[in-house]
Amino acid sequence: MATPIYQTATFEQDQADSFGEYDYSRSGNPTRRVLEDQLADLEGGIRGFCFSSGMAAILAVTQLLKSGDEILADWDLYGGATRLFGEVVDRAGIKVRYIDASDPESAAREFRPETRLLYVESPTNPMLRVLDLAALSEITHQQGASFCVDSSTMSPYLQNPLSLGADIVIHSATKFLCGHSDVTGGAIVVRDESLAKEIAFLQNATGTALGPFDCFLLLRGLKTLKVRIDAQQSTAAKIASFLAGHAKISAVHYPGIHTHAGYDRQLRQARGAGSILSFAVGTANAAKRVAETTRLFRIAVSFGSVSSTISVPVHMSHISTPIALRPTRGIPTDLVRLSIGVEDAEELIEDLSQALNGS
Ligand code: PLP
Repeated sequence: MATPIYQTATFEQDQADSFGEYDYSRSGNPTRRVLEDQLADLEGGIRGFCFSSGMAAILAVTQLLKSGDEILADWDLYGGATRLFGEVVDRAGIKVRYIDASDPESAAREFRPETRLLYVESPTNPMLRVLDLAALSEITHQQGASFCVDSSTMSPYLQNPLSLGADIVIHSATKFLCGHSDVTGGAIVVRDESLAKEIAFLQNATGTALGPFDCFLLLRGLKTLKVRIDAQQSTAAKIASFLAGHAKISAVHYPGIHTHAGYDRQLRQARGAGSILSFAVGTANAAKRVAETTRLFRIAVSFGSVSSTISVPVHMSHISTPIALRPTRGIPTDLVRLSIGVEDAEELIEDLSQALNGS
């Protein structure tokens, strides 16, 4: 009923000149393989790979490229991804250019002969913009490039980018896949044999695979993925409508409210709006005060946990965005982001209400 933790770095072999299925845990481990297979199934891919973090997974995707190649990326990305692209990946001679991928037609005009990869998140974090994944996939393939979607804000329970045409789906497994804020992990799922071979090679060659105990915790987390997300999402919808009607809030970003620009698209390409939302409270000071006066919501970076968290993205998850890029990023300083957990919806609303009234 529970996958054993193969807490071993190496595997004894019968013969000196031929190996069994497993020889060394960096290359493959049975606990990890069960998890990787489950993720591949959940995403509808042919192979899954688990990494020591979401960042390690993103790095592996960039290592599919070589010097002179270009990544085209939507501007609204997790700050750590922007830092990786601008301060690490560029050292290998790979260029990253940011575009607004919300209009696929204008995105199509941005491709150049050296563009090898289009990289996006949807819904984006923290602005919750919804990108048209099927259209972006089509234009990317017309240009002979690959399409990679970071689907961390959704989890495979709510969205399967591969079925919309993406070549690679990435998760920060630290988020919903784990669900309990006790593992840092990442995942890649692909639907093509040759990409699978390349990622397997990179995972082994760079030594970035997830350890067996963390794989065990993620396997346990996956067992409750549906019940957690159903509960979190239903509470998020109630909180979004409470916030939308609150006098002190100027904007609510949640693709589950029908006034949201991406509402229809989200309904078409995903099975729900998720449990992350953000809202603007007028001033940076008010954002800080709201975050600091909630009692049930705890101030923390990350999202997807059974415990509700609150954050001010410009100071927290997006602080690693390189300074030169911040003015064009459009993340308002008065923005507060919530990740809804499994606590009682009414109690969470009461908590937000007292925090907003005091701000
Ligand atoms: N992708 C998204 C959308 C994220 O929010 C994060 C982290 O917050 C990452 C990737 C990176 O994942 P990790 O923190 O597991 O390295």
